[in-house]
Amino acid sequence: MSKTEIFTQLATYDHEQIVFCNDNATGLKAIIAIHNTVLGPGLGGTRVWNYSNEAEAINDVMRLSRGMTYKAAISGLNLGGAKAVIIGDASKIKTEALMRKFGRFVENLNGKYITAEDVNTTTKDMEYVNMETKHVVGLPESMGGGGDPSPVTAYGVYMGMKASAKNVFGNDSLSGKKIAVQGVGKVGGHLLDFLHKEGAQLFISDINEEMLKHYATTLGATVVKGDEIYGLDVDIFAPCALGAILNDENVAKLKCSIVAGAANNQLADETIQGPLLMSKGITYAPDFLINAGGLINVYQEHIGYNRDTAYRKAEHIYDVTLEIIKVSANEKIHTQKAAMNLAEKRIQDISKVCATY
Ligand code: NAD
Repeated sequence: MSKTEIFTQLATYDHEQIVFCNDNATGLKAIIAIHNTVLGPGLGGTRVWNYSNEAEAINDVMRLSRGMTYKAAISGLNLGGAKAVIIGDASKIKTEALMRKFGRFVENLNGKYITAEDVNTTTKDMEYVNMETKHVVGLPESMGGGGDPSPVTAYGVYMGMKASAKNVFGNDSLSGKKIAVQGVGKVGGHLLDFLHKEGAQLFISDINEEMLKHYATTLGATVVKGDEIYGLDVDIFAPCALGAILNDENVAKLKCSIVAGAANNQLADETIQGPLLMSKGITYAPDFLINAGGLINVYQEHIGYNRDTAYRKAEHIYDVTLEIIKVSANEKIHTQKAAMNLAEKRIQDISKVCATY
């Protein structure tokens, strides 16, 4: 890839900076993308992934960093958007030395980028990063961190789901509602607990048979096979496993009134499936809005951790979801677009505040 192509990519979504980190001794090949720091330092996790080529890695880190800008902005956090990827097979390349070297690169950015856990990185990895830089969050509670963010993420998703229900059914009670949860991992599992407590009727799918058995036994959830989850006659569908599952084919199968889940980038193409869901009369709770509880939790860690405050801020997702649904109806735009507009407006407004000393 030539220099020109990278700068063209940077300009496409107005990225501020991209940093290539190479270290032959440890085998580290990492890319840090800083999308926008108008609201504050760019925060986003570090993903380790065996990309098939460098262009794929660059594309992923740029797309993910931009997503973090929107998530922080709509959540009212004083954070910008950034992300890092380390190229390679996590089971082979991750060592203390490699993670610490990566920490040094993060340190050299002087706080413009704050890192955290992501796909294929663990709390232990962040402990190594933390040996070289203080610009890392998602540390264990024993080290003064906020611990596992997934309960707060699940709580935010629950709030977004209840707000959507209020709009669609006239009240926000989920008692007796049929809810299908795809992916019963860390977030999906905590979400099931909230929904069960409220008396929802649960349907679940996962590739992990043990987890399915666990929730079928403990919560009385009905297990559904693989793709059958899309066509279930339910009130709410909660994607909590994979991104890009809302493609034309799957959306065509949906019989639910609401889609509200934790997975990142659920819409295969927001410009296509956003309007498609709207035309089918399905209320889509924007993923980056309702799954922001994890980011809210690590932001609290950045400014001084308090779990109660993190939950209180995640509760606010309820009000913002209601507002987004209202704007979507008034302006006849899909909810993802309405959410993106609100996030962009906050960045624009605050950039004027920051324009003078
Ligand atoms: P996780 O790995 O704990 O859970 C994901 C679950 O999905 C696993 O149980 C896995 O077996 C299952 N799964 C994988 N492929 C599947 C398939 N084809 N069909 C059905 N199930 C499948 O991850 P998590 O932390 O619970 O995160 C879930 C989603 O939410 C991810 O998309 C993640 O990016 C997003 N998210 C998580 C957080 C957080 O705080 N953990 C925050 C924001 C967004």
